Amino acid sequence: MQRMVSVLKFGGSSVASATNMSRVLDIVEKEAAKGKVVLVSSAISGCTDALLKGDEKSLADMEIRHRDIVTRLFTGADRKQVQQRVDELFGQLRQAPREEQVTYGEILSTTLLCAKLQAEGIPALWLDSRELVVKSDEPETFRRIRQAIEGTEARIYVAPGFICRNQEGKIDTLGRGGSDYSAALFAAAIGAGSLQIWTDVPGFMTANPKQVPAARTIPRMSYAAALDMASHGAKVLYAPTVAPAMAAGIDIEIRNTFAPEGKYTVIGAEKDPARWIGVTSEGGHVRIVGTRPAGEEGLSAMPDSDRASAMKALTEAGIAALSIRADGASLDIQVREPVLEQALRALHRAFFQELPVEEIKLFIAGDGAVAQALLGMLQQTADTVKERTGKLLRVVGRANSRRWGIDLGGRPQLTQDGDYIAAILQSAPKASLFVDVTDSETLYKRYGELLEAGIGIVSSNRRSIAVPYPEYAAMQAAARENGVPFRYETTVGAALPMLESIARGANSCDEILSIEAVVSCTLNQILGDYRPGGESFASLVRKAQAAGLTESDPRLDLSGRDALRKLLILAREAGVQLEESDVEITPVVPLTSGSVEEFYSALEAQEESLSRAAHEAERQGFRRRFVASLEKTAEGYRAGIGIRNVPPVHPAYHLRGTENAIIVRSAFHPYPLVIQGPGEGAREAASSILNDLLR
Ligand code: ASP
Ligand code: MG
Repeated sequence: MQRMVSVLKFGGSSVASATNMSRVLDIVEKEAAKGKVVLVSSAISGCTDALLKGDEKSLADMEIRHRDIVTRLFTGADRKQVQQRVDELFGQLRQAPREEQVTYGEILSTTLLCAKLQAEGIPALWLDSRELVVKSDEPETFRRIRQAIEGTEARIYVAPGFICRNQEGKIDTLGRGGSDYSAALFAAAIGAGSLQIWTDVPGFMTANPKQVPAARTIPRMSYAAALDMASHGAKVLYAPTVAPAMAAGIDIEIRNTFAPEGKYTVIGAEKDPARWIGVTSEGGHVRIVGTRPAGEEGLSAMPDSDRASAMKALTEAGIAALSIRADGASLDIQVREPVLEQALRALHRAFFQELPVEEIKLFIAGDGAVAQALLGMLQQTADTVKERTGKLLRVVGRANSRRWGIDLGGRPQLTQDGDYIAAILQSAPKASLFVDVTDSETLYKRYGELLEAGIGIVSSNRRSIAVPYPEYAAMQAAARENGVPFRYETTVGAALPMLESIARGANSCDEILSIEAVVSCTLNQILGDYRPGGESFASLVRKAQAAGLTESDPRLDLSGRDALRKLLILAREAGVQLEESDVEITPVVPLTSGSVEEFYSALEAQEESLSRAAHEAERQGFRRRFVASLEKTAEGYRAGIGIRNVPPVHPAYHLRGTENAIIVRSAFHPYPLVIQGPGEGAREAASSILNDLLR
């Protein structure tokens, strides 16, 4: 027998109508251009069931469908002739013994296919599988098939699947779905170069796509894996098909009639590329079909982690497994029938659906404590973040105030000098974010260029955001117009979601009536610790500075400058176009231009009045808090910053240490929104930045 023979088998839906049959013939004729073809076909879809039912209504319906196909597929004399043949076959069918009636489905479908090929002038020969396939006797079957083909001159042989004769010589079938096996017998008998099972799905899939929409095509799989899946519920292939193909060393291709150039599966002798192949189900059992990696074929123990993953997936879906056991390299899990499909989907998700990972490239500027904390956190959280969000954050650029490095592979070294931003723009990678963790006063002037280039910005640098309103608005517009993120949640209240909460109200047109922000960690700490008669105010400030709690120049905190920046950011988030000059600041001590030492002397000179004020507050049952506030009045918004005495009913009364709080009153709600919690710390800042990166 020549090697260049292909066996192509088509399932019932592939031949369900005249249109579908035409598709089939296109595929077959294309293959026939390369060599001889054996075309094996099932009955048209629904036909076997109808014939098994056998009542007159079912037979009449089938007769109509076949006649209809003839009308659409043939013209002129051919149509008449084929119609006559169909009538004859239905006549025989009605006369046939009950148990033989079911065999007419395949005879009918192949008769039409063969006649159409002949009508097109292609040398085609119909083979009577009833005379060639002997049930449970492969050697005899092979002998007969070879004999039938030898010496004939056809280009395309057309043979009914499914039907055969048993060893007593009576007409019989190979079992439901048996046409695949028929095709394998033909292929093995003639030593075909290729065995193609054409169906209505794109190959052997990781699950039945009708039950698990996320199922995907398995490009290559071993005979063993295909056999395991087919024997445990996978309908795409009739399990007995595998053995003869495997014995003859013929690859089985599973292809889609409805997308002939699309994805398909090759089942062959080589090892499976993955540990897990797919999920199948049968009678309340879900099976996760697996294979053993090379060298481990002999091992029988299933690692506990595999069972645990399966259990976890089910538990998360709210499903209790009735049993779970290893069966060879596969896992068999029994669940209650009503949750079977749900279980299939949950297990498929856990074992076969790799989250699509979106890589986000980060260009970081700044190398202080927050930058270090961020780098550590990015490394530590990478896996969790990937699993939770499908995002992979990769640091590709770093810079301090002098040097920078960019490496799109993810190992940037600080070796370059010159313009970092220009270098970023030049490397211009997609899906990247610039991270400003500096306290530069001028870096924001480059934000526009980055945003225009499609690079989003995440900043913890409030100097970049609390800029004159027109510049702020221009950055926002650039971000919006270029469809890139511009986020700076960290600039107020560190990890507390203050800006987001305010923006949510503004987005839903809730009008802000007032914001009270107690957002100066330094002053919260100092005012909280300051007791009349205790340690002096100046001394507490020195301590805070030494502890790194103040801005590098403590005057920025005490003058209210830092709180002012935060208030501008908060107000603008609420949609209020606040400018520095709109804010009335009552500093703890006025911002002096001299040295830090001169400032401390000035502060010591204030000790008496500070102490008196503290004493007076305490006497009245108040606590002193440094509050930045915005309030809607009849004349518009009024903003102020300064120390306030707050009574015990005020949310800020109970703040401890460096805690921050904002109290937001809005038109929609009778009670204020209060956000309170840790307002500082490198780790808090890093986690806030991380979340901005992920949003
Ligand atoms: N027509 C038969 C069945 O429905 C055989 C086949 O399609 O493979 O079972
Ligand atoms: Mg089938």
